[in-house]
Amino acid sequence: MSQLKIKQKGNGYAVASVGNLATFGGKDFLKDALSLTGMEVSFGTLAAGEAVPFNHKHKQNEELYIVLSGTGVFTLDGEDIAVESGDAVRIDPNVVRCNRNTGATPFTYICIQAKANSLEQCTATDGVIL
Ligand code: ZN
Repeated sequence: MSQLKIKQKGNGYAVASVGNLATFGGKDFLKDALSLTGMEVSFGTLAAGEAVPFNHKHKQNEELYIVLSGTGVFTLDGEDIAVESGDAVRIDPNVVRCNRNTGATPFTYICIQAKANSLEQCTATDGVIL
């Protein structure tokens, strides 16, 4: 069951929340809720002992997983990579992936999907200081 709630929508912005991350469970996607146009973002949590029940890859999107809490393993093209809170894992679209919680506490992360090689400018080249 989704925990995502729209908190506010304005002219050109939107705010949503999954609430307290310490008690967040499951998976919630933000694209539709926030009307994202260049990326998909999700909050995900795996309970102790839980694993994503399938392997997957993507057609065109790279993914960035940012681990918020707990410890886990990403299996990337058959190689196990141990991760923990504070780690960021970037994955090419065609890499077969799965992840699981290896700790005793919830393994919580944010996943950002964006079209590989689509970023044309960022930070100092895209930001405009007013
Ligand atoms: Zn994916």
